[in-house]
Amino acid sequence: MAKDILVTRSSMPSYEEYIEAIKPLWETHWLTNMGHFHKELEAKLRDYLQVPYLSLMVNGHMALELAIQSMHLPVGSEVITTPFTFISTTHAIVRNRLKPVFCDVKESDGTIDVEKIEDLITENTSAIVPVHVYGNICDVEKIQEIANKYSLKVIYDAAHAFGEKYKGQGIGAFGDASAFSFHATKVFHTVEGGAVAVLQKEQYDILYNLKNFGIRGTELVVDVGANAKMNEFSAIMGLCNLKHFAEAVDSRRKVCAHYKDRLKGVRGIRFLTTHHTENRNYAYFPVIFESNVDLNRDKVYERLINNRIFARKYFYPLTCDQACFRNKHKKDVLPVARRLAGSVLTLPLYEGLGSKEIDFICDTIYDCCKS
Ligand SMILES: *Cc1c(COP(=O)(O)O)cnc(C)c1O
Repeated sequence: MAKDILVTRSSMPSYEEYIEAIKPLWETHWLTNMGHFHKELEAKLRDYLQVPYLSLMVNGHMALELAIQSMHLPVGSEVITTPFTFISTTHAIVRNRLKPVFCDVKESDGTIDVEKIEDLITENTSAIVPVHVYGNICDVEKIQEIANKYSLKVIYDAAHAFGEKYKGQGIGAFGDASAFSFHATKVFHTVEGGAVAVLQKEQYDILYNLKNFGIRGTELVVDVGANAKMNEFSAIMGLCNLKHFAEAVDSRRKVCAHYKDRLKGVRGIRFLTTHHTENRNYAYFPVIFESNVDLNRDKVYERLINNRIFARKYFYPLTCDQACFRNKHKKDVLPVARRLAGSVLTLPLYEGLGSKEIDFICDTIYDCCKS
């Protein structure tokens, strides 16, 4: 095959649709600062995600960082989280001058292992930051139970969980806050962007201050805020993409079904389960290559690259093993997370990935079994 197959490719509206949609900006010259389209997208996404309040942000990282900051947790307190995630999750905790305490994950779906959380709680624990990794919904009920018992805040990294539900409710309605990412590589995007879902108006107001310098009037600043506002070009990209989101998910669903059909039953290959998840968004297609000599993850990875197929080892290494954190935190025993990180490969998945490409990817994986 001639062309590189990358792990993802951003969904986009047609050129004409986007150009038409941004035209009004040349009349108003209003490009950011909670403009018309910021307000429109914020309202539409709040309804779409079925959450009480939603605050648009400049990106998913700042959404998570400010969501944590908005909880006013004691400086230096401990936050229980998972290392099997994108580095942003751990950075958001540490940049808030909080101490990450890494909890192991579940073999079945990669989310935080709720059976192991309580052992990690000390008198210094202030919050839990779980991740709906790959869009696999965490055990939100058990997490809330633990949080209530020990008076902890729960801030979800929902970067992968756009549009998903649990027991008929929008996933952003669980915990004290949920941070979404609308990065170009995500299933729904605004080029760069993100949002925080919260349950109370007071939380929404705190986030507003944090994303806009705390400015509340032409001569009034009430809080020490940063700048994390979404601009109008991004908001318009979001409005366009939202119109086509169902289509995009349907296309991704078909790609996943095709992969599953071709790869199921292959010895040494396992899929993660998603039993808590409703309205799946098919954001990622992770495959676990279980310590089988033939189907070794790294061997498959190399073989795919040799065929110009760029799968990714999401999420390897664990965030706690990255150069900036290694040796800084207690040496954690995280057998399951380490095993998953060492055996996972996320295969190319995007709207419109063709059947021929999927077959080629699967055939290349089969070839690894033979040689
Ligand atoms: C993408 C991502 C983020 C950060 O989002 P950005 O929009 O890229 O800043 C945070 N957490 C997870 C798990 C992610 O995948």
